[in-house]
Amino acid sequence: MSQQGFVAGFSQGGYSSAYGASNPQTHYGHFAVPPQGVAPTPATFKTPTSPGSGMPLPPGTGQFMTNGLHNGTSEQRFPPPTSVPSPSAYPLPTGPRLAAAPASTQQLTNQMGGMQIGGYGQSLLQAPQPPMSSVALQTMSSPPLGHVQPLQAPPTCPPPMGVGPAMGTMGTVPPMGMPGSFPGPPPPSSGTLQQLSGLCGPQELLHQQGGYGGQPAGSLPGFPGAFPPGAAQMAGPPQKKLDPDSIPSTTQVIEDDQAKRGGQIYTTNLRGQVPPLVTTDFVVQDQGNASPRVMRSTVYSFPCTADLAKQCQVPLAVTIKPLALIPKNETPLYTVDHGEAGPIRCNRCKAYMCPYMHFIDGGRRYQCGFCSCVNEVPTFYFQHLDHVGRRVDAYQRPELSLGSYEFIATPEYCKDKKPPNPPAFIFMIDVSYSNIKSGLVRLVCNELKGLLERLPREEGAESSVVRVGFVTYNKILHFYNVKSTLAQPQMMVVSDVAEMFLPLLDGFLVSFQESRSVISSLLDQIPDMFADTGESETVFAPVIQAGVEALRAAECSGKLFIFHSSIPTAEAPGNLKNRDDRKLFNTEKEKTLFQPQKGVYEQLCKDCVTSGCCVDLFLFPSQYVDVATMGSVSMHTGGSVYKYNNFQVDIDGEHFLRDLRRDVEKPVGFDAIMRVRTSTGFRATDFYGALHMNNTTDVEMAGVDCHKAVTVEFKHDDKLSEDTGALIQCALLYTSVGGQRRLRIHNLGLNCSSQLAELFKSCETDTLINFFAKSAYRAMVNQPLKTVREILVNQTAHMLACYRKHCASPSAVSQLILPDAMKVLPLYMNSLMKSAALVGSPELSTDDRALHRITVTSMGVEETQALLYPRLMPVYSMDMVSDTLPPAVRCSEERLSDSGAFLLEDGRRMFLWLGQSCSPEFIQGVFNVPSFTHVSPDMTSIPELDNPLSKKLRTVMERISQQRAQAMKLLIVKHKEKSDMLFRQYLVEDKGLHGVSYMDFLCHVHREIRQLLT
Ligand SMILES: [Zn+2]
Repeated sequence: MSQQGFVAGFSQGGYSSAYGASNPQTHYGHFAVPPQGVAPTPATFKTPTSPGSGMPLPPGTGQFMTNGLHNGTSEQRFPPPTSVPSPSAYPLPTGPRLAAAPASTQQLTNQMGGMQIGGYGQSLLQAPQPPMSSVALQTMSSPPLGHVQPLQAPPTCPPPMGVGPAMGTMGTVPPMGMPGSFPGPPPPSSGTLQQLSGLCGPQELLHQQGGYGGQPAGSLPGFPGAFPPGAAQMAGPPQKKLDPDSIPSTTQVIEDDQAKRGGQIYTTNLRGQVPPLVTTDFVVQDQGNASPRVMRSTVYSFPCTADLAKQCQVPLAVTIKPLALIPKNETPLYTVDHGEAGPIRCNRCKAYMCPYMHFIDGGRRYQCGFCSCVNEVPTFYFQHLDHVGRRVDAYQRPELSLGSYEFIATPEYCKDKKPPNPPAFIFMIDVSYSNIKSGLVRLVCNELKGLLERLPREEGAESSVVRVGFVTYNKILHFYNVKSTLAQPQMMVVSDVAEMFLPLLDGFLVSFQESRSVISSLLDQIPDMFADTGESETVFAPVIQAGVEALRAAECSGKLFIFHSSIPTAEAPGNLKNRDDRKLFNTEKEKTLFQPQKGVYEQLCKDCVTSGCCVDLFLFPSQYVDVATMGSVSMHTGGSVYKYNNFQVDIDGEHFLRDLRRDVEKPVGFDAIMRVRTSTGFRATDFYGALHMNNTTDVEMAGVDCHKAVTVEFKHDDKLSEDTGALIQCALLYTSVGGQRRLRIHNLGLNCSSQLAELFKSCETDTLINFFAKSAYRAMVNQPLKTVREILVNQTAHMLACYRKHCASPSAVSQLILPDAMKVLPLYMNSLMKSAALVGSPELSTDDRALHRITVTSMGVEETQALLYPRLMPVYSMDMVSDTLPPAVRCSEERLSDSGAFLLEDGRRMFLWLGQSCSPEFIQGVFNVPSFTHVSPDMTSIPELDNPLSKKLRTVMERISQQRAQAMKLLIVKHKEKSDMLFRQYLVEDKGLHGVSYMDFLCHVHREIRQLLT
């Protein structure tokens, strides 16, 4: 199956498999606890079919994989269709027509005649108004497959396999041409799209063709005809452009869902109910299944059999954000305390008491919904049943009626059976030359004085019990005694960084309340103490080791906040060399750039996880620092990585401080172990997130905050029943910021069906793309990036071809037919393939790409959605009265207007784009300067002016910022000036610098689908 391509095929010999996190499926053992009686694993799942692979290879002929670059695993990812529709069954249309479609189907009648370079779009056909239940769009007209004229692909070329030249040749686009060639085509009406043709004229193509001819297989033929870079633009005579409104629109999908389900109460009483989109405003009422804010599934109706799952290629995965914030207008989580007895659990599978347990025997026993084991009800928990067999106290007990709740854990659930100590925060500041010189050290110290007053605390508690400690370092480490009884802080220096030890126990981790004055004095003194430093070398691994030792000595878990500037080159364990080599971009070895250094760091991660030590990293580099390695510690400990390139206090200071405040104040748990249990017939096989795994089932997270999500993939090991459905229980055992050991339980019931149509109807595209992003980003450290991108294309085509073949009404093969629930999947997929991590480009540093990869790994669904489809909003014509955000427009430069101003955000960055003819009134109102030319692009915030426009715009920006997990940096972008190029890369429907446009990608996917169907 597809996922195996990413899992088994990719995990050989990689760093991540050495860590255990990404390759836990070496054995398909049962849940660790209760082996007897659990349905036996079919042998097919037990036998690794290739060395180093724990996963079976699906039977397949490899007929869709002709690329010699593939390894065996990916070649066999996709079984061929079992039957081929006869021409009579799928008559070609004689002209534009409305395809008949099932009620749930979006049909995109995409006639492909215009697919030849230059020809495309010449016959733009208006889409007829669809009937209520189906949409059919006539966009392009196409001759039958054989008539497609690939301009540069030889006729003998293999079927298009991969991402092809558009992606494969990124590196060959001459960098020289870039600055001049990226003005961005003006609006289509002007017809100046031709301007771009200089970049990829016929000569260029020939050159590329030649350049790729020697490659093992299929890169150029990958996109016959339609896919050389700029193909759409290179045609000779000016052409009518295809109406972009005629292809599925994410903004439209978002708007429609908001209109249909926005503002409503979503009750979770129904199994297999597809929730509103992540972008829709809705209120959740927990009635037995976890909120979609906590658990979101790729599919709400699982296929009953492994064969069906294999056939459709749709990943079965759930993204879980175990500590997700609950909005103020929803019911807070209930806590259940069973006293000394502890939570009630199934004797066999250890699932926790939940609404899926069936009480029998008058209430004396219950049958487990997960493993069917019949258990005795403990005497203290006995209750009578009503006439329908439900306990009469069902609605008084959260664990019998709700999808999510918490148990207070007993000492059994604690290390050494002792209740934990409250967690600690250790602030570790790099005081080497660059951090002192930039003013960062002073900024951090000043900020901490106020910030420490706002440490997170247990709900309802008066003050925080989190203890704090301080370390400064360059080549050596300085620990501080800040005991409340001291008049002044004391410094202790450890210069032997090879054997890190803690020079003091008493007075290192203290209560801020008690030691406020000593700490304040320390924070005042640190910037001055190192003001004259000339030391530019730093250590890094020993710093983390020191944090681990401190937490270990204090017998508590906690978090390190490390403020670090440079690659740690000083002689010490874990020192790093600059291994950045851009020559590796777009080569087989590109993946090595993202593989963390092993050895010291591997052990460090393990030590951190064992000690419940979460590492948050704030980086302030002026050059390469090896984020892939340094960030790996955060990635394995539930931490976050922030990076501020060429940090300048006056420009980046506020952004950094907002990040720091959010990071310190956000709800977080420590020393966490998560288990995902399922009903019989399927099981969790893989886990993606900022986590660590020592075995196949326990997801360990040294820390887990309210934004961290784990995406869990499931596989069948038996048949699933439509009656009982597929039940999932996620249990997170963690230590709260108040030092309480707790169990947070989330339950989700999904439907099962033997009808593929049901499955496709219940898909959740945003979650699917979250899964694809995470699996691709994991795969990219073990596989050539090109292969990873090819797999994404292939899997997209396979899912859609399967739908086409088994679920859609017969129609011409030239029609592109998309399931309604997945109609924008190709758009997201194209955006993912162009994303920073997956695309080597001269503009992006290796570190930025590594950071992107690390960050996405622990993202929830709303974050990947925003990242892969940024929100673009016109702000020059806002409704001043309305209190809603301005309606978004499609993320394409065609939506920009020279007289306009637009806000774009993707959850990480915010841009305010100004057209050259932006009205002076707008400029005056927002910036308090007379015209466009007076606006400084170096601003990182807009001034607070006392006029309605300024107030409205700031409110909009603040609202967006509140919705997102991180503080967002604001960039002012003036059309055709600095940053315009950067900005345009966020317009994901366009070609961008190194990818293909949405339209071209859709055409390519369509061609792939046709290949699969014929
Ligand atoms: Zn059970």
